[in-house]
Amino acid sequence: MATLLTATFPGDTEGQALLRKVKIAIANICGHGVSKKGVVLTAPKKLDKERDNLKDDYKKIWKECTIEYDPDETGASVLMSKRQIRLGPFFLRPSIRVTDLEEVILHEFLHVALDIKDRQFHHGLMTQILKYEIGYPEDSAAFVD
Ligand SMILES: [Zn+2]
Repeated sequence: MATLLTATFPGDTEGQALLRKVKIAIANICGHGVSKKGVVLTAPKKLDKERDNLKDDYKKIWKECTIEYDPDETGASVLMSKRQIRLGPFFLRPSIRVTDLEEVILHEFLHVALDIKDRQFHHGLMTQILKYEIGYPEDSAAFVD
């Protein structure tokens, strides 16, 4: 199961507001909420292995992912080898919507789940998947790595 590291989020109002939005975003993309321990069992249901060119074991990869807040992260990123998804202070802004976070989490997960080795081709494919297949309004590659 993927794990949301809830203790990494700041304890102040902004940090807890972000944590709440991240939890709703995860519930929206996975089809169920985050457990008290931060566990997310199901891989994102909004993705489709065939349509989206995902690795055969993408559900297993999801189980290895962690999602955390990192004060030193400029936008959002994923540490490929550790499957560590990190959200930075940019996302503390009240203007950040749940759908923005859904897109960002899917974006970072796709970096480790796409069955395409060359990372330079990832963003074009993500635009295809997130914007045109799933229908998110923004292009997530515009504000995250
Ligand atoms: Zn990216």
